[in-house]
Parts: sequence; structure tokens; C-alpha cells
Amino acid sequence: MNRKKIVAGNWKMNGSRSENAPLIEGIQSADGVTVIVAPPFVYLSEVWDALSGTPGVELAAQNCHAEASGAYTGEVSPQMLKDVGCTWVILGHSERREYQQENSDLLLAKTKAALAAGLKVIFCCGEPLEIRDADQQNDHIAQQLRETVLTLPEADWNQLVIAYEPIWAIGTGRTATAEQAQDMHAHIRKTIADALGTTVADQVRILYGGSAKPSNAPELFAQPDVDGGLIGGAALKAADFNGIIEAAKTTSK
Ligand code: PEP
Repeated sequence: MNRKKIVAGNWKMNGSRSENAPLIEGIQSADGVTVIVAPPFVYLSEVWDALSGTPGVELAAQNCHAEASGAYTGEVSPQMLKDVGCTWVILGHSERREYQQENSDLLLAKTKAALAAGLKVIFCCGEPLEIRDADQQNDHIAQQLRETVLTLPEADWNQLVIAYEPIWAIGTGRTATAEQAQDMHAHIRKTIADALGTTVADQVRILYGGSAKPSNAPELFAQPDVDGGLIGGAALKAADFNGIIEAAKTTSK
């Protein structure tokens, strides 16, 4: 199955007008892969003003609310994100699960709202270190998916991408080995196939996230079930982000 690779840069709560400029200028044409940039809400419009002409580059938000509008001070709806150029939203990131107490019920509601508004969703899952050390990661990830995206109908799945992000690898410099990533991505694909059938499972892109960089991206992206990456720290350096995009291009050939 030929799945177009994705490289998505999650800037998290980083950036400023002066810091964003070289990052935006550094992003080159995606050329056969999809490049997604996810800046903080306040910079979405101006980042998109600069990047919307670059082929293969798309805009993502890092979060959204589950309602379309209303008295929700400080929140941003999926419709607003679409309005400023987003085609994607990242949901289920472990930082939001931990610091904003986002549980499966809320994440499912947000996912449904985003899809209904016409956004595509990068849905994150991942296990903490103690689960990995106890060798329970497969059950943990299957449970995260069963409580959320696996309840969605087959028709939604062409708008969904899964990101596997082992929490012990996020921002730690400790990357999952290519073998660990492949094993988990194959497990995720099988879990999706068991729930929804092989047509859905074979087409869905599964991204790896966790200390990915230009040096390890080629091996990770060469794994048969790794369809690209969700990139944190390395997305904040133009040279590193481009190096990872190059790895996606090379491993797509
Ligand atoms: C992330 O948080 O999505 C991530 C992958 O971060 P990093 O690349 O910095 O580990």
C-alpha cells in the first residue's frame, strides 16, 4: 500500500514573530510528501499568509474546542481554525492529556467536532515509561484507541491520521528504536484492522513522534508501517525540519 508520507511540525508553545520568520522561510516545497506546520493559535494566520502558496504544505492547530461557538472564554472552535486556513488539528497529545486533563471522552468529542467542521485530525496515542517497562504498551495503546477513534465510522477514517508518541521519547532525546516503532505501528494497524477491517487499516497513515531528528528519521521512515513523523523540538530548527522532510522524500521513493 502506497501511503503518502506526512511530516508534521508541532511548535507547541514556542515561537515569536521574529523566531517564526526563518522557520517559515526555511520550509521548502513538500515534493511528494505532505508537510504540516502547527504553530500556536496566535500565529496561525500569519504563518499561513506566508506558507499557503507552498505546494504540499498544510496548516494545523494544536488543539480545538468541541463546540462551534459560544460562551467558552479562551477557547477556539474547529470552525474558526478552518476559517484561518487550517486543514488539520492535532488532538490527544500527551501534554494535553497530562496538563489539561484531557480524557478519552473529551478527546472523542473534540475529534467528532473537528471532523464535522471539515478538519482532518492527527490523533495522538502513547504510553508512559512504566507501561513500557512492564511490557504492557500494546494493551495500553489499543485501549486508548478503542475508547476514542475506533468508535468512529469507517467513513471518517480518510480524515484521520494516528500519531504514535511514546511519552518516554518526547523531548527526552531518547528515540524509540526503528524496531520498537515498527512493532507498535504494526500493532496499531492490526488493532484498526480488527475493529474496522483491512481497507481502513491499510490506508491510514501512522506517524511516529518522539525525539525524531534528521539522523534517525531515515531509519524510522523506512519501516513499512511508519508513514512519517510528528516532530516537536526538531521542528523549531529549519535545517533539522528540512532534514526530516528530506528523509520522508527519500524513503518514499
Ligand atoms: C511531540 O511532542 O509531538 C514530539 C514528538 O516532541 P519531540 O520531537 O521534541 O520529542
